[in-house]
Amino acid sequence: MLTHDELAIVHLVLNTDCNAWDLAPTSASPGVCRFCYRERNRVKTDPDTVRRVIDQVRTESEAHRVVFTGGDPVMPYDNHLEVALRHAREAGFETNLHTNGLLLSDRYAGVRDHVTLYSLAIDGPEADSADWFRGQGYFERFRSNVEFLVADRRRLAFNTFTTAASVRELPRLAEFVTGIADRTEVEYWLISQYRPIGRASAGKAELYGFERDDFVRAVDGVRDAVAPVEIFAQPTRAPEDPYPFRVWVLADGTVTADLGSVAAPRNAVIGDLLADGFEPLVRRAFALREQPQLEGIA
Ligand code: SF4
Repeated sequence: MLTHDELAIVHLVLNTDCNAWDLAPTSASPGVCRFCYRERNRVKTDPDTVRRVIDQVRTESEAHRVVFTGGDPVMPYDNHLEVALRHAREAGFETNLHTNGLLLSDRYAGVRDHVTLYSLAIDGPEADSADWFRGQGYFERFRSNVEFLVADRRRLAFNTFTTAASVRELPRLAEFVTGIADRTEVEYWLISQYRPIGRASAGKAELYGFERDDFVRAVDGVRDAVAPVEIFAQPTRAPEDPYPFRVWVLADGTVTADLGSVAAPRNAVIGDLLADGFEPLVRRAFALREQPQLEGIA
């Protein structure tokens, strides 16, 4: 059994595609979600497999929360999201629906009763800055999602990417977050610097790769403003400063893990939990992570 201290949160991926790129970039933007390091494959699964995958994670771990992520888990087709959310809750997990929210209102009725927490992306305090990251119309959609979720007293969290320019907007974004937290519970705010993984390039490094100290100082500067909302800061890492260990379980049973290297182009595929069990695969990932990077993993 994996203890809660060893693994508190599991990411479940029903699909890795995303509809954010349907939005048109603003004129000054380098493109929508260009920092995104999602993979392009689509998970092939069915409701029974999704339930078995969740059951296996439940049986072999004390993890308390399943984060539904992707790509975006709220897509305009049946990716078994409602089945998976319901089953995860019935199995005793908290559920975090991590979404860009573009289609949330369409599927809200089916997911509402099975979601503990909605984590929404917001990268700037008004349309100009927020849409620069995510595309035209994103900010208005975000605002309308927040309004109906607040009116329905849902629990929220926010997720923000920063550039060298937008990090200066954090105080105004903090006011925005505080205004929402006055009206409904906001569990956390995750603020990230660009992560040079997957499709890193000199252009992206110039936009997003500002000094780590500037990022940390800017984030620390808004902590008191949003308290008691907890802020998690995710600065760009150096090779010797690995990311926290995280596990993504694809809804077909494939287990992948972030082994910490900032240079790895994608998460390492560890195995199939329906064939090998969940705990042995996670323990294998722990062992791989302990190996020197040069030994690495294929
Ligand atoms: S909304 Fe999220 S998953 Fe979709 S492209 Fe943007 S960062 Fe990637």
